[in-house]
Amino acid sequence: MAYNNFTVETDADGIALVTWDMKDKSMNVFTQEVMDELDAIIDATAADDAVKGVVFTSGKSSFSGGADLTMLKGMFSVIEKEQAADPEGATKKLFDAAGRMTWLYRKLETNGKPWVSAINGTCMGGATELSLACHARVAAKSDKVKIGLPEVKVGIFPGAGGTQRVPRLINTQEALQFMTTGSSLSASRAKALGLVTEVAEPENLVSAAKDLLKAGVDPVQPWDKKGFKAPGPAIWSPGGVQLFSAANAILRRETYGNYPAALAIVKCVYEGLQVPIDMALKIEQRYFTHILQTTEAFSMIRSLFISMQELNKGARRPAGVEKSSIKKVGIVGAGFMGASIGYVTAAAGIPVVLIDRDMEAAEKGKATSEGLVAEGVKKGKVSKEQAEALLSLITPTADYNDIADCDLVIEAVFEDRGIKKTVTEQVEAVLKPDAIFASNTSTLPITGLAENSKRPEQFIGIHFFSPVHKMMLTEVIMGEKTGDKALAVALDYIAAIKKTPIVVNDTRGFYVNRCVLRYMNEAYNMLVEGVPAAMIENSAKMAGMPVGPLALNDETAVDLSYKIMKAMIADLGEASVPKAHMELITKMVEGEGRLGRKAGKGFYDYPAKPAKKHLWPGLKDLFPQQDADTLDVEVLKKRFLTTIALEAARTMEEGIVTDPREADVGSILGFGFAPYTGGAVSYIDGMGAKAFVAQCEELAAKYGDHFKPTALLKEMATKGETFYGRFDPYGQAKAAA
Ligand code: NAD
Repeated sequence: MAYNNFTVETDADGIALVTWDMKDKSMNVFTQEVMDELDAIIDATAADDAVKGVVFTSGKSSFSGGADLTMLKGMFSVIEKEQAADPEGATKKLFDAAGRMTWLYRKLETNGKPWVSAINGTCMGGATELSLACHARVAAKSDKVKIGLPEVKVGIFPGAGGTQRVPRLINTQEALQFMTTGSSLSASRAKALGLVTEVAEPENLVSAAKDLLKAGVDPVQPWDKKGFKAPGPAIWSPGGVQLFSAANAILRRETYGNYPAALAIVKCVYEGLQVPIDMALKIEQRYFTHILQTTEAFSMIRSLFISMQELNKGARRPAGVEKSSIKKVGIVGAGFMGASIGYVTAAAGIPVVLIDRDMEAAEKGKATSEGLVAEGVKKGKVSKEQAEALLSLITPTADYNDIADCDLVIEAVFEDRGIKKTVTEQVEAVLKPDAIFASNTSTLPITGLAENSKRPEQFIGIHFFSPVHKMMLTEVIMGEKTGDKALAVALDYIAAIKKTPIVVNDTRGFYVNRCVLRYMNEAYNMLVEGVPAAMIENSAKMAGMPVGPLALNDETAVDLSYKIMKAMIADLGEASVPKAHMELITKMVEGEGRLGRKAGKGFYDYPAKPAKKHLWPGLKDLFPQQDADTLDVEVLKKRFLTTIALEAARTMEEGIVTDPREADVGSILGFGFAPYTGGAVSYIDGMGAKAFVAQCEELAAKYGDHFKPTALLKEMATKGETFYGRFDPYGQAKAAA
């Protein structure tokens, strides 16, 4: 029989080689059709007397990325469309959909013939679960092999037998860690743990799997045999009790109870290990159905999986502009940012010209890349040849003529309008006419900077975040006159360096920094109220923020906040900065010289290593302290998330951000906004505009007008609208087409 996604060839030894190779996709993913065909292959090979065993592999360079987007979208549309009218029927439908893969894999492992999975590259999610249902696994000895169950990172969990087979194969503690962190394993690590049977040279992968079958692979899984015992301690044994008490404590420490899917993994393992596999799989199916219906799963999958992929694939790229080939990039200003932008550009294989005021400064910029590749070589992440190839792409210079033939120039000189004007003119004097000029300014509006340009339609903002080689987000800023070609080139460049773009309109602070400032401002408010600093930091983390606002302020520099405040007062008047904030920061910077981490002292003290940083005890002398026991942590948590979400809502109301996917993804990648919410506007959509407005009003009454809900939010609350409904990104795309 011919299949669309697989080929099946049986050799003279009776071993059927099933090769998964989807025609129109660069990576194999699970779709309904893939599952139907796999089902048919299981039936056919089981029924064919000539087949003694099966090797399952991929025809692509990777094994499989797991489930397809459309399948997940299908499950959510059941929830969205059918749940209100028929909750029970919708849940049943979801339960059956969730079980499709579970019972297909169960059928595979009980088909009577041995299956061996031959893992040649990245193997994620449902593909790892399929491999675990096979009776043995061989993985290629290659850096390309990464085996993982990353579902928890998008708010769900391995619901196709993963939570049951992993702890039946390896020790419970490691099983829990593997699944609750969603981390991936190399072939050798997977072998050491016992998740993989054998590791083979890539070119011998299939023959090694066949040899294994010839030597004899038991077609009955250990857990289907009488007397089976999982490798970890029995649940109701002293070891089991100890393990699960610790597991719960660790989970709480890592998630603060914000991630229901992570907790569901622990529950599945705990309950599932006490019963036979068929019952255990049913328990997992029930938890999976429940988790699929949580706001967290819905919002996380939408932002962290669907929207992120859509933005990465150019959702905001203007239609009709030919794909640009960026052959050379010029970077002016080889300082802290420019040097790192040079590194990520060269790492993408694009030649870079790095200019500074003199050769010494330009070379110092290149030295940043030398340091980063040396670190990579030391850690074994890049070879010496790769390191040399990368460095050979960076040309330091002080001569502007060297950038004449660049397709894109990124300016990263001092944050000074006058210097930026001179540099723009110097660059344009030599640059070829159709090239694009981008500024990495973090505070100066692009429209104003574009006035220095003779080609404002080719002038755009590309705002990087520090550290550039780690931060996945870039913010693209459209000036009033920026044209489609500039946007297309900026997005093509960002795709080449493998970062996620959001496209925003021009405003002071753009999107990300506007939100971040709100986060830090709320911490200032709390300090002034006398909330103990440790409570400020801890409640922010409990709300799901990765870094407390005071620690973050130390990283970005307290004197930078001081400069920004002074600039705001100069440009917008005294009222633009709360007086108490100005007093606090003036005291920190001018009174105490506490400029942040770079000075070794800010809101924290930074003693010499190995001692850890700790909050500066002097903070409690700045304001009369409240008694911690009288403060409600839940309110503190809400204040942080609400003030940021409100700012995100304002940017949408003002037309700065036009697509809710960008507001959400930008907030998570830009400053780690509580990922379980799906991002800053999903936080509002998740509870509904009405509840959010009520929450804002309550906070405004107690903590100030900055919490007052905006006109748009009030209108949305009355009409029962969501951001994704009102600013429907898919509707917008359709209307524009
Ligand atoms: P920096 O001081 O480390 O680097 C600026 C570099 O520009 C220096 O090497 C300087 O010699 C060079 N320079 C100055 N005048 C020049 C000229 N006329 N011609 C060529 N080179 C010149 O500053 P930075 O932190 O890298 O910031 C650069 C830009 O990036 C600023 O616009 C800043 O707002 C923006 N930015 C900074 C960050 C951050 O975290 N530091 C983040 C995002 C954006």
